[in-house]
Amino acid sequence: MSAPLIPPAVPAKPALPFLPFTRPSIDEETIAGVAEVLRSGWITSGPQVKAFEAKLSEYCGGRPVRAFNSGTCTMEIALRVAGVGPGHEVITTPLSWVATSNVILEVGAKPVFVDIDPVTRNIDLNRIEAAITPRTKAILPVDLAGLPVDRDRLHALAKKHQLRVIEDAAQSFGSTWQGKRIGSFGDFVSFSFHPNKNVTSIEGGCLVLNNEREAALAEQYRLQGVVRTGYDGMEVEVVGGKFNLTDVAARVGLGQLPHLDAFNAKRAELVKIYFELLNTPANRGLALQLPVADFTATNWHMFQVVLQEERLTIKRARVMELLQAAGIGCQVHYPAIHLFALYRRLGWKDGDYPLAEYAGRNILTIPLFPAMARADVVRVVAALAGILKAHQK
Ligand SMILES: *Cc1c(COP(=O)(O)O)cnc(C)c1O
Repeated sequence: MSAPLIPPAVPAKPALPFLPFTRPSIDEETIAGVAEVLRSGWITSGPQVKAFEAKLSEYCGGRPVRAFNSGTCTMEIALRVAGVGPGHEVITTPLSWVATSNVILEVGAKPVFVDIDPVTRNIDLNRIEAAITPRTKAILPVDLAGLPVDRDRLHALAKKHQLRVIEDAAQSFGSTWQGKRIGSFGDFVSFSFHPNKNVTSIEGGCLVLNNEREAALAEQYRLQGVVRTGYDGMEVEVVGGKFNLTDVAARVGLGQLPHLDAFNAKRAELVKIYFELLNTPANRGLALQLPVADFTATNWHMFQVVLQEERLTIKRARVMELLQAAGIGCQVHYPAIHLFALYRRLGWKDGDYPLAEYAGRNILTIPLFPAMARADVVRVVAALAGILKAHQK
């Protein structure tokens, strides 16, 4: 027999909808445009990809740009175009999405990690020179959360030591350095259009190159090494892969680009509210480190706090569980790369890069996306502050 249904004495408060840590904004014009592509009879790489590349090149000051099906293969291909391979070393950060160093292994080279600056959370440029050896071929820095690495110092270092630079700008599309758009200058610049990024092509990415010779080689690596000439000519000279973007994806990307500036302005507006609320007298003592309060260079790809583990009685996983229970999504970007099993097998160990390890254990991405409202930020800060205050030493 089933238990009698007893109505609750107090009606339950309707739960607020779950707030994810990020969510893409796709407009109806783009959705209609995708339907058009699907009906057009040509859905893989074609005119939409060409149009997307042209717009991206325009955005990057006219530099050659090629689109690919991820922001991972863009970096792998940049390394190949730069001639990086077995016997070479590439200097990079241990605090990034693992793609950043996986691509170095993929081309047969060795990642050389340099610890982070705990304030910017990006590679510490002061430590790069000590890591350079005769085998060093390139530097592969990351703009974590969209905050750009100092491009003047980066490119001066590369020039001094004759190194190539592959900027992993996956997160910094729309960021600037001294007023110049990331992507409009430098050596290789790689962007990602994964759905979590500031603009998306579902999956996808693009690579900014220096000249048409490099772009032609990148095209070969993009699709089986194939070069076509005339009506029936085909040649293959390099081992290429299968990295081409579809027209469906390119159409999504084309529909996103006109919104980039407005999306990023909205992100900055929301971030100002985060800073305002996290800096009130009541919240100033919270056991967390805030990001750099930059409102000129960064595109605010993410809003990340670093929990101060030494001041808390609970670990990050429990903070995440409690936020989740409050209907708030959060994520970790990222655990330190060198402590993954693959990297430990290659010789790295705990203590190698203590600042990246601390950040890797304690960094937390809280919700930030253009469709959020002030009330959402208020809700996140109230939940986070409540959790931390209940568990601070
Ligand atoms: C997203 C991202 C990538 C990879 O991009 P995909 O398009 O997912 O392949 C690489 N590096 C960083 C720092 C990223 O955030």
